[in-house]
Amino acid sequence: MAAAAVLLPPVTPPTYHRIVSETLRVPFDEKVSIPVGLLACQRDPLLREIATTVVSARISQAPTPPSNGRKSKKEKAPPVPSEPLLEVVLHDTVIFPEGGGQPSDIGVLTSSDGELWDVIEAKRHGGHAVHYVRSKDQSADRALRSFSPGAKVGVALGDEGWRRRLDHMCMHTSQHLLSAVLDTRNLPTLSWSLTAWPTPSYVEIPRSMSADEIASVQDEANRLVFEGRSVHVEVEELHDENMPDQAKLESGRNVGKALPADYTGGVKRTVIIDGVDRSPCCGTHPPTIHNLQLFLLPHTESLARASTASARLYFLAGPRLLHHLGAVHAHLARTAAALSCGAPQVPERVEQVAEERKRAGKRVDDVEAELAGLLARDLVGAVVGAGGAGAVMHRHRTDDAANPLGFLNAISMAFAREVAARPDAPPYLVVLSSSPSAQTAASTSVVLVFGSDEARVKEAGDALKAKLNVKGGGKGRWSGKFTGVWREKESRAVEEALAPLSGVNP
Ligand SMILES: [Zn+2]
Repeated sequence: MAAAAVLLPPVTPPTYHRIVSETLRVPFDEKVSIPVGLLACQRDPLLREIATTVVSARISQAPTPPSNGRKSKKEKAPPVPSEPLLEVVLHDTVIFPEGGGQPSDIGVLTSSDGELWDVIEAKRHGGHAVHYVRSKDQSADRALRSFSPGAKVGVALGDEGWRRRLDHMCMHTSQHLLSAVLDTRNLPTLSWSLTAWPTPSYVEIPRSMSADEIASVQDEANRLVFEGRSVHVEVEELHDENMPDQAKLESGRNVGKALPADYTGGVKRTVIIDGVDRSPCCGTHPPTIHNLQLFLLPHTESLARASTASARLYFLAGPRLLHHLGAVHAHLARTAAALSCGAPQVPERVEQVAEERKRAGKRVDDVEAELAGLLARDLVGAVVGAGGAGAVMHRHRTDDAANPLGFLNAISMAFAREVAARPDAPPYLVVLSSSPSAQTAASTSVVLVFGSDEARVKEAGDALKAKLNVKGGGKGRWSGKFTGVWREKESRAVEEALAPLSGVNP
């Protein structure tokens, strides 16, 4: 990640995490793990490390399956490490286990002997966060000793983990803001995806939007950003009466504001953007949307599904937006340099180059047709000049055309037209070959045989196969390919292959 100039307050304000129930407490007994919903990463999204205690650790039984069960095949699974993984449950953590559409954090554990251990991901199992820790040897015994229950450990995001988290937070909170503004336009969010860095994420909405409509939504969202609306979280116990609505569309699909079915943490958590939005969500969100400038790609992508006409609206914010700007600028600067013009002139220059290319292509076609005609006339002249029983001839060309066989065919067609107008033409057999100017052992030369007698054409093709290893075939006209460097020797081999057929000559 290149740029990360997103300004956040240095610490999370004490008013950020609000327990709104009289009876709910964050468990302080270090022998139990704090349920997902009340974790340090959720109470204080700017906290990067804490000291805590191991509750349990075991060797991971299998590669970690996708916890939401609906990951597309395209999404890359984390690399399977060669060493066994440990599943470590801590009393508390700053490493967010994936949830609410937000991917898992990565981080580092420090055991009491000062050793560092990579956390490659964290997942929610029921109501608790499980850290997947890479062990350092095959037996994993040393790792299990370092993470015995009650052991003191440090848990940190580390630089890489923090950059990843900051990006995820900026994109996730921007999604809440975007969905809230879309809601006011009667465009409910059907689903969303926090795509892998650095691609734009998207919300799925029931219909496509015009560029003007998108610009208006972007303006409205950024007005709220400029106002620097604050973000806070309210938590309470979860019970039947306050269960978030499992809102459904007419099509029966969930609108995505419900709790995961396997969540057993007993905490209801609501993320509030002041005066804008209240959404049940377990994700990590910065304490303000200040400076979370939102950019919407100015078009929607329609999704072809039998029952719906939904569309995706793509968005960028925070470090991902800055990266996007940098990458787009680099592309534009490179294109401008290649075209020897300034960036603003690029579209005009590209149109100009495309138009010139079209005209040049047309001219090449015209000139090729004219040249094929002239070459054919020359060949017909030679055939007629041979007189008597006719002519067997070979002509070799050097040609860097994309389709050299096409040009040889054009010569043969022009020849056929020309020779038809010459009742005095004797029988003939013509071999045309063509090689590129710079040749290597892998180069391809093409060969075309045509003549007044189909049987002779086939005989000539068979002789070229035998003498020169030309691979080819065809009825009436025989064409083939030769692989390697075509030199004098190859042209002489063609003459030799044709020698027994020169019976058409007097
Ligand atoms: Zn959310």
